[in-house]
Amino acid sequence: MTTTANRRLSTSAYDFINEPYLLSLLERRSDPGEVREVIAKSLAKEPLTVEETAVLLGIPSPELWEEVFQAARQLKRDVYGNRIVLFAPLYIGSECTNDCLYCAFRRSNREVVRRTLTPEDIEAQVQQLLDRGHKRLILVFGEHPTYSPTFIAECVRRVYAVRRPKANIRRVNINAAPMDHEGFAEIKAAGIGTYQIFQETYHHETYAKVHPRNTRKGDYLWRLDALSRAMEAGCDDVGIGALFGLYDWRFEVLGLVSHAWHLQKHYNVGPHTISFPRLRPAAGVKLDETYRVSDEDFKRLIAVLRLAVPYTGLILTAREPAWLRQEVMEFGVSQIDAGSRIEVGGYTEAGDAQVLEREQFELGDLRPLDEVIRQLLVDGYIPSFCTACYRLGRTGEHFMEFAIPGFIQRFCTPNALTTLMEYLVDYASPETRAAGMKLIESELAKLPDGPRKNALIERLRLIQETDQRDLYF
Ligand code: SAM
Ligand code: SF4
Repeated sequence: MTTTANRRLSTSAYDFINEPYLLSLLERRSDPGEVREVIAKSLAKEPLTVEETAVLLGIPSPELWEEVFQAARQLKRDVYGNRIVLFAPLYIGSECTNDCLYCAFRRSNREVVRRTLTPEDIEAQVQQLLDRGHKRLILVFGEHPTYSPTFIAECVRRVYAVRRPKANIRRVNINAAPMDHEGFAEIKAAGIGTYQIFQETYHHETYAKVHPRNTRKGDYLWRLDALSRAMEAGCDDVGIGALFGLYDWRFEVLGLVSHAWHLQKHYNVGPHTISFPRLRPAAGVKLDETYRVSDEDFKRLIAVLRLAVPYTGLILTAREPAWLRQEVMEFGVSQIDAGSRIEVGGYTEAGDAQVLEREQFELGDLRPLDEVIRQLLVDGYIPSFCTACYRLGRTGEHFMEFAIPGFIQRFCTPNALTTLMEYLVDYASPETRAAGMKLIESELAKLPDGPRKNALIERLRLIQETDQRDLYF
């Protein structure tokens, strides 16, 4: 166990993540009666305790798993409707002083090309992203003294400052190494959206095995409590995650749920999102396959997370192949990245093929944004670039999306439709535009008549006939 003093930290998640207890919960075999009781609680939109989550993880038969999948589908529809939020990652720099065994950016890897974007490079990358239709980005950094909070804050400001005739980036999230309170306050002041960081594995022994102790990241507790420091410094919108494939996936699910409860209990707000990346091949990396997560178990872990934390967004990344993304979307995913390139400089410099020695790991879904959007439309989802709540201060404790009855119908769906219309008018291919217009028609038909629907129809008209953009409720 590591003991980094978390200066001014009022509470540590460490007390919540009781490893021997979580491991003992995984020994149980659940019977159908208790499984159905837990499913019913979840369908009533109540978050599950760690023990209840373990009941789902202890399901012995494929038939009962089908019931979990069915419930996850239903809960997703009830809570989120059919929206899928789209974003793109922007890798800023691949310098790193850590030595995480699974990552191509680790310091001992001689095969990877190191690079940090200059301010001009950032501008060029963001222009490309805007010209493809993106509105939401996550900036990704290695851990290195160069990438100080001041540097990160400056990158955020630069991204927001890039303008195209009818577009700018409306939300910048961050995935960067843990900071102290002052660091978090500094990046918050630059206007970040979500601060995201993955514990990678909640299992101590495995954590120590893949993160050498003589590195910054070797300090389990400093990383675990990063989200608590972020909260205390005013970043009330945080994302957690685990890198699946390092240890038993069921243990990591319990770790994530415990961490979510810790944040909810101490800061009155749980994580905004949970990510569940699976290990991917990477240049100069030899992966240990002992805990490889099969596609079937991957579906299970998404469905269990959906049921355990009904109000937390689930992020499915382009690490996964297109066919699998399409299949597991319905189990409760609410956000995906699309058209992603993860080579530093990849949006202007990479061709169609991946340049593995410039990437952190290999991507599974390289489809362009337009193709991803078209597929979503064909499958009946509303692709959304909405950022309204963050910009109107509806975040953290005040995030009312789920608390106010009818909120989704009054705000989320209309905002998803206006951002979709912007995409269709400004960036879409003819086929995607046709599919999108059809979907907007059918979604409008579902909305109740009244002033809100009329206002939405007027906004959709303005987007089609004028240069007015960014019209949100
Ligand atoms: N350096 C920061 C850190 O480690 O937190 C920034 C994040 S890193 C660039 C983003 C995430 O990618 C890591 O947290 C890890 O979970 C994931 N990752 C690293 N290597 C990977 C691999 N081979 N396959 C899949 N995901 C990987
Ligand atoms: Fe560095 Fe992050 Fe890669 Fe670890 S996962 S080597 S900290 S970039």
